[in-house]
Formats: sequence, structure tokens, C-alpha cells
Amino acid sequence: MLPCVRAFALSAAFLYNRRMALELARGGLAEEPPAITMKAAHHMKNHVALYASFLLLLAAASLAAAQGLESPYLDASVPWLRGNLHTHTTNSDGDKAPQAVVDAYAALGYDFLMLSDHDRLTETAPLDAKGMVLIPGAEITGKGPHMLQVGAKTLAVPDKDRQVVIDKINTEAGGFVIMNHPNWTANFNHCDFDTLMKLQGYVGMEIYNGVVLFLEGSELATDKWDRLLAKGHRVWGFANDDSHRDNHRALGWSMVQCASRNAEDILAAMRAGHFYASTGVKVDEIRTEGYTVTVKAANAQCFRVYADGGKMLARIAGHEMSFTAKPDLKDCTYVRVECYGEGDALAWLQPMFLKK
Ligand SMILES: [Zn+2]
Ligand SMILES: [Zn+2]
Repeated sequence: MLPCVRAFALSAAFLYNRRMALELARGGLAEEPPAITMKAAHHMKNHVALYASFLLLLAAASLAAAQGLESPYLDASVPWLRGNLHTHTTNSDGDKAPQAVVDAYAALGYDFLMLSDHDRLTETAPLDAKGMVLIPGAEITGKGPHMLQVGAKTLAVPDKDRQVVIDKINTEAGGFVIMNHPNWTANFNHCDFDTLMKLQGYVGMEIYNGVVLFLEGSELATDKWDRLLAKGHRVWGFANDDSHRDNHRALGWSMVQCASRNAEDILAAMRAGHFYASTGVKVDEIRTEGYTVTVKAANAQCFRVYADGGKMLARIAGHEMSFTAKPDLKDCTYVRVECYGEGDALAWLQPMFLKK
């Protein structure tokens, strides 16, 4: 850190010095012969020293502020909203009409819900939201790996080239993209790692998809997530039900930190990573200070801290944990926390990148 600050201050001083010399030379040409007296030179030297020390202080202050864990979480006082973004109705292969699905989630106490029928935008305006925020969206299904269009204005048309669809959503069709159930199907590879690496401009991926519990493949995709994160792809992790029938509800959900209950703010909060994914553990507080992260979750029994490529750095028992990521740790560009509760209840916090 220090050599870096010194180099910055020295180069700034050098530039300042050069500028003054040039100005003096220019002034000298236009008016009298160049006259850098001893007094003027001394004055200039003082000027440079003052300027350099000011820059040094500034650089040190900004470096200190820039170091530590980059946490996407807000103050503990900001309320958490619970929601599911992946829900089918009779408008595709779900077994209940849109209103019945909305009623069922409202009865479970959800704050927001997205109906995501296959290649179809299910109208939310005619529905009674039952106090929830309904987010317009769809699951883009045809011609390639499935993905959610979250917060759609118009339906994005499926294209074999998924980059075309992502670009369309980001520019015209509205909303953002989540890559779905990457480890679904018998080969555990509905969406392969190279595709996830190649595609740009998607906000997140499903690290947990409830319905895949009942299908071939794995409901989890933290393996691909850790590989992507290690390669510098900043992708948020989502848990969704992908519900088609009654026993698919409340398997996995998002807890979003958002002060207001409207679709626009909830979407903005998710884009910014102000949420964690859960299958049952409720996180009460997430704090960071420097390179230390502290997490409290009354119904957690154990925590694991993961870093690049899925290596576990710590395993801490209890309802609360604190971990300091050493900035000089080799191959550690981020840390993320998993919270383990009773039975198969889990919560996944978003990655926190190390600012070195
Ligand atoms: Zn799907
Ligand atoms: Zn689906």
C-alpha cells in the first residue's frame, strides 16, 4: 500500500513541477527574459511540497476507504421482503390458474411474487395481488437454456443465441436475466459452464431451484457459481421454487432488503445484490468492517465461509459468526457465507469481493 501511495504522490508532484516549469518558460517567452530567482524557486519548492503532502493524505484516505470487503448488504434496520421469482400457472405447465397461485403464496406470507410461465407473459393487472407485489415476468424457454426475464415490459422472444435474448432484455424488453437451474437433467448440465462464462449481461443464476429436487440432476448449482465468481463474473445467487404444483411451494426463496413495497424498488435492490437466498434459515444481521464479516441468524446452527472455486476457509458453529478475510490470502478474490439450520434449511449470502 505505502509504496503505491508514495509513487502516486511523487508522480503528481512531478507533473505539478513540470507544469510550473512550462508555465514559467511560456511566461518568460511572452514577456521578459526567464527569471527564476532563488526566491521564486524556493517558493515553487514549498508549493510542490504542500501539494504533494495534500495528495499523499488524500490518496491514503481514499485507499483506506477502498479497502476491505465489498458487501452488498444494507443497514440491519432496512426491512427484508420475502419472494419467489419462478412460478408456473395454467398459462404454461402449472396445475393452478394464476389467481389461485397468487392466493397460495399470499397465504404463506410472501411479500412479492413473479409468475413466470414458459415463453408467455402472464398478465398481472387483472389479478388480486392479496397484498403482495406482483412482478411481471416470464421464463424464456424455447431454443436454449432456460432463463428468467424478471420485471418484463414486453416478452423477449427466444433465440438460439442466448446473448441476443439477454441484450434484448437489457435494452428494450425490460427487466433483468437470471440463468435457471444450471444442473438440471440427467447429465447435471442443463446450462454448461462455458455458456455461463461466455454470456454477458445477466444479473444472476439460480443456485437453488426447488423443482429439480423431484427431477434428474441437482437443485444446487453453487459449484458453477463458485467457478464463475473465481473467474471474476459478478453474478448474484438466487433460490427459487420453480413451482408447478402444491408441493413445490416454499422450497427456496429470496429475502430482499428493500424499504418500500413496489416492484421497481425490489428489482433495483436485487440488481444491487441486497438479498440472500434461503431454504429456511432467516438471517438477522450482516455486517462488514474492513475485511471482517459478522453474521447473526437465530435459527442457524453452523456457518461455512467459502472462497474462490468453492474452497472452504472456515466452519463456525453457533447462531452467530465472525470471519476476517486476510487480504494477502492467495487465490482469494471473494468470500461468501452459507448458514446451516435445522434439517435441510440453508441460507446463502451473496459474495463479498476483497478490495485490496
Ligand atoms: Zn426451466
Ligand atoms: Zn420453470
